[in-house]
Amino acid sequence: MARQYPIEKVRDIGIVAHIDAGKTTVSERILFYTGVSHKIGEVHDGTTVMDWMEQERERGITITAAATTCFWTPTYAKDDKTAEHRINLIDTPGHIDFTVEVKRSLRVLDGAVVVFDSVSGVEPQTETNWHYADDYGVPRICFLNKLDRMGASFENSLASIRDRLNPHAIPIQLPIGAEADFVGLIDLLRMKAFHFEGEKGEIITEHEIPENMKEEAKMAHDALLEKIVETDDVLLNKFFEKKEITVAELKAALRKATLALKIIPVVTGSALKNKGVQFVLDAVVDYLPSPKDLPPTKGIDMETGAEILRYPKEDEPFASLAFKVAADPFVGALTFFRVYSGTLKKGTYVLNSTKGHQERIGRIIRLHANHREEIDEIFAGEIGGLVGLKDTSTGDTLCDPEKPLILEKIDFPEPVISARVEPKTKADQERMGMALHRLAEEDPTFRVSGDPDTGDTIISGMGELHLDVLVDRMRREFNVDAKMGRPQVAYKETIKGSAEAEGKYIKQSGGRGQYGHVRLKIESQERGAGFLFVNAIKGGSIPNEFIPAVEKGVNEAVTRGVVAGFPLVDLKVTLYDGSYHDVDSSEAAFKIAASMGFQEGVKNSKPILLEPIMKIQVIAPTEFLGDITGDISSKRGRIEAMNDRFNTKVIDSQVPLSEMFGYATTLRSITQGRASFTMEFDHYDEVPANVALAIIEGRKK
Ligand code: GDP
Repeated sequence: MARQYPIEKVRDIGIVAHIDAGKTTVSERILFYTGVSHKIGEVHDGTTVMDWMEQERERGITITAAATTCFWTPTYAKDDKTAEHRINLIDTPGHIDFTVEVKRSLRVLDGAVVVFDSVSGVEPQTETNWHYADDYGVPRICFLNKLDRMGASFENSLASIRDRLNPHAIPIQLPIGAEADFVGLIDLLRMKAFHFEGEKGEIITEHEIPENMKEEAKMAHDALLEKIVETDDVLLNKFFEKKEITVAELKAALRKATLALKIIPVVTGSALKNKGVQFVLDAVVDYLPSPKDLPPTKGIDMETGAEILRYPKEDEPFASLAFKVAADPFVGALTFFRVYSGTLKKGTYVLNSTKGHQERIGRIIRLHANHREEIDEIFAGEIGGLVGLKDTSTGDTLCDPEKPLILEKIDFPEPVISARVEPKTKADQERMGMALHRLAEEDPTFRVSGDPDTGDTIISGMGELHLDVLVDRMRREFNVDAKMGRPQVAYKETIKGSAEAEGKYIKQSGGRGQYGHVRLKIESQERGAGFLFVNAIKGGSIPNEFIPAVEKGVNEAVTRGVVAGFPLVDLKVTLYDGSYHDVDSSEAAFKIAASMGFQEGVKNSKPILLEPIMKIQVIAPTEFLGDITGDISSKRGRIEAMNDRFNTKVIDSQVPLSEMFGYATTLRSITQGRASFTMEFDHYDEVPANVALAIIEGRKK
């Protein structure tokens, strides 16, 4: 079977927005219009639109999936069946605590529609995501939404984009009227006006540009034309020679410039009032990349470590990335994946090269707005879901077992914050374990553990809000009511020195005794190396059958350090000697001896506390530079770099997480709300002695 849509007609895109800018409304409208147009395309019957609208109202549109597929024929080519495109909408979470999720989605999408509220223009969150998109080289279009709102301003919003995000943002439309009088759009390439009529704005009518806007439209058209021809030598010559340049030529050049991140096309409208969303879709088709427009995907040969390139073609070896494991109410665990090269057929096997095992491909599905479609095969550039994989997590590479490789990994940081969760009732308690397990499977930065002393459940994640959201999801999706305690920094412990230690657990008074005796060597390892247990027993001073018990004893002791009871990391324990008793030795005795010996050894190896150090980036107008850096220094922070970006300062620093609680509020008050920041885990580092003392005291209470 050949592919349904040639790769040139595929778009893998995300909608990126500040919370409340209208991402949900825009997505919903996109799914609505694409559903309508697709249905019309199939049936060619005027009544279909209304029928479809009725059905939609009853069923509702699902827009929460990690990726939803839809179809779009541009409005200017609506009778041309060959102009239909497949658009895969990839969900992008907007919140600052979910930088991992944002990065993960940017890794698999090729282009983005950035949505703005035209009342507020650029907001800090958008700025953060914008810079991530810059890092990943994602081509973008901007949609100035909510133009119908009181106080909405197309000009001011555009100015804020140019000022704070990118000076090469240029409108390809102008709004006709604003606020309550916002009635339609002028297309600056075609130089025509359009109105959106019908119950849902589904009927688009063409008009002449209103008399009172002719001058303004002409100026905006000329500015756009100049901007485009500057990026294309052939057109530039034509322009100077005053030769005619067609709309098609301008569009082709604008597409090239957008893909090269030289121009950011700006469109506008009101999703809520059903104005302009169809033209957003036209712009996605016209200006955002197809998978074929991208450079080949880089992978690493697992044997040689050499770089391998995979091209977005059906006949290349299969290579794909699992980017989200989601709990689906109908099919259970659903693994969303993006195919970078090759073809995957149902019933075959793939290699999970990250984990080193094969997976059988039972069912491949595609999520539409209101149904799931089972498919037999899936091709380069497409996005789909796999049902029933045994053990594949977010970030794993799935590839052809004959042509193994690992794609550039998405690195997931260690959780840095923990809190207790308490179920409200007995019934909640029973469901909570399952719910937490499911959520942890989906989200590699979320962990669940138990407090060995109290038996409480502890959840760990990337920030306060991250944990809040997960507790909220437990309630909404799993019907589990739970209360979260105060979030705490996830400290760790390690050692700076080394020691030899002896652990003896011997009781030999009457009846069967206890006998366990070990000698251990404890050494520090470099930061990030983790924990290592080495068995170096020679000559049977401890029989083999007891070695696992020794290891178990050490493993348990590692979870509670001697300084303040935090988990120990980055050390190596070598079991090198010991003794046993023919009758009295037991696994239990060796386990206790090992744990005692280990604790003794750690005490003598200069144990210290470690704390998470965060990478902080603040973006603010220059005038606040002094206040911001002063505040960072007072938080035990270190300034790493200060750079200019347009007319703002970008301040990079490293600050201990424990000093960052409430930073959003602090920053808002020192900059009157004009700065934004991102925070990301960087590494663990030693806690200074005076600070450590306070932490230890706090733990004792
Ligand atoms: P999200 O948080 O980005 O997903 O935003 P939503 O789509 O949920 O929208 C946030 C609020 O803005 C909701 O109350 C919407 O009804 C409203 N909204 C969205 N688009 C528009 C628009 O074009 N005009 C107006 N006036 N309100 C809108």
